[in-house]
Amino acid sequence: MKIIDNLDAWRRLRQQLSGTVGFVPTMGALHRGHAHLLERSVAENAITVLSIYLNPTQFNNPDDLARYPCTLEQDLQVARELGVDVVLLPGYDDLYADDYRFRVEEHQFSRELCGAHRPGHFTGVLTVVMKLLNLVRPTHAYFGEKDFQQLQLIRDMCETFFMDVEIVGCATVREPDGLALSSRNALLDAAGRARSAQFQRLLRSDLDDAAVARELDRAGFVVDYVETREGRRFGAVLVDCGDRQVRLIDNVLVEQVLQAAMASAG
Ligand code: AMP
Repeated sequence: MKIIDNLDAWRRLRQQLSGTVGFVPTMGALHRGHAHLLERSVAENAITVLSIYLNPTQFNNPDDLARYPCTLEQDLQVARELGVDVVLLPGYDDLYADDYRFRVEEHQFSRELCGAHRPGHFTGVLTVVMKLLNLVRPTHAYFGEKDFQQLQLIRDMCETFFMDVEIVGCATVREPDGLALSSRNALLDAAGRARSAQFQRLLRSDLDDAAVARELDRAGFVVDYVETREGRRFGAVLVDCGDRQVRLIDNVLVEQVLQAAMASAG
């Protein structure tokens, strides 16, 4: 496995590659959700490239960025075991030589759901993803459905800008109690972790959105939003964990909500 923190070295290597190149961009602190994306890429491509870059431009809250877990040595071990070929570790100056003068901005969907609560978040995401896709030049790039709004915006961006890459959406990987895996879960304290399982359970319930929000509030979450659109129910909550709040997001297919309703009706 090659570990590359020099973009010129990467460009030279890329020129020598032929065949399919799968790409999994991450912010590190790898878990089984990331591993699922990497496994798919390794299975479906000649070469798999993983990037680990904690992108500051997508954080609207400096505390969230400062607290974000970093487990680089462990991540490299996971990547090695999964058969990743190249790990890219770019720095801010490599990716933002323009100091974020140029940005990719979307003016509708990126302002809704998470975007309504995290100003500038999706501009940071789309900008860094476009930079990484232009640099890596993958044939296939893998993103998780856990961040469904992000996946949709990236698909739309690639189509809009005629970017020659196939965006592959991957199912959400969950803990046995249903909590979607996330790097931020490591920041939950024991009480917050225990409470978190109720988040997706309520999203999947047959209650309407307003009632789900009320129940989440009653269960002690601070609710950012619960909203059903185009066959999916989306939600974001904050979990109080003593000195900090941990933000969780998730989404479920409405079909699953209906199935749960039918099952509970007997
Ligand atoms: P992140 O490191 O949080 O930026 O995530 C990198 C990629 O992993 C994104 O495409 C995420 O959607 C995806 N991802 C994160 N958590 C999960 C999960 N629980 N299941 C599937 N994919 C995930």
